[in-house]
Amino acid sequence: MGAVLEVRGLSKSFGGIVALRDVSLEAEEGEVLAIIGPNGSGKTTLLNVITGVYRPDGGGVRLGGEQLVGLSPAQICIKGVARTFQNIRLFKRLTVLDNVMIGQHHRFNAGTARILLASRRSRREEANFAREARELIAKVGLAGLEHAVAQSLPYAKQRLLEIARALAAAPKVLLLDEPAAGMNSEEIVQLEVLVRTLREEGLTVIMIEHVMDLVRGVADRVVVLNYGAKIAEGSFAEIEANPEVIEAYLGKGAGPCSA
Ligand code: ADP
Ligand code: MG
Repeated sequence: MGAVLEVRGLSKSFGGIVALRDVSLEAEEGEVLAIIGPNGSGKTTLLNVITGVYRPDGGGVRLGGEQLVGLSPAQICIKGVARTFQNIRLFKRLTVLDNVMIGQHHRFNAGTARILLASRRSRREEANFAREARELIAKVGLAGLEHAVAQSLPYAKQRLLEIARALAAAPKVLLLDEPAAGMNSEEIVQLEVLVRTLREEGLTVIMIEHVMDLVRGVADRVVVLNYGAKIAEGSFAEIEANPEVIEAYLGKGAGPCSA
């Protein structure tokens, strides 16, 4: 059947700044696609257009063949595209469990935390949701922290909580914006294991990432953006050897015997 998510010819400008230039890409079921590129190359804008935060100037985004452009972020989330943010956006005064349960809410109703917390569900329903939320919390490695207040968690754990909250929306496609930012090497390994598990379960993951060890370890394919345009696409090995990508992003480096 091919791609779960198909991005075709996306363009987006902000005033005189061209953030996306005719970008096309596809992600298949159970694939981890990494998006890399210098700061300002349009990576977050791409996620913002896919999730309906911005409407593109041109082009389209299809999920399972269905056009997403024109839908609201909440509608797109309900269709099956969930995300995390480059700058963590948790409900910081709520507990870990409440944050994840707010993610579940998107499956049924677009709305705010207040609506969720005020809504009347049967006890059994509530118990099922809570059990599932606890499973997700355990899955991302936060078991035992269900009742911790989000802002009390160390940074890396807040990032994992954001992933749990996104998973609570039961997405087909998970979009991660620099999930390893601020993590130490041990935490990055934990994140890598989590992403592998999600892939094995058939989830499609699109991950913006600067930590090349993580990209190398987990990405099936890599797309490279520069000045809003896709300049390369391929396996990590192909990308790593691509002169244009080295020039634009990876850097030339120098060996012990370099001139
Ligand atoms: P990246 O995530 O690759 O660092 P972004 O997508 O955040 O890049 O930004 C791409 C370009 O678009 C940058 O020049 C940025 O300043 C600009 N940009 C992004 N969002 C906005 C916005 N809401 N208003 C104006 N310019 C924006
Ligand atoms: Mg960004």
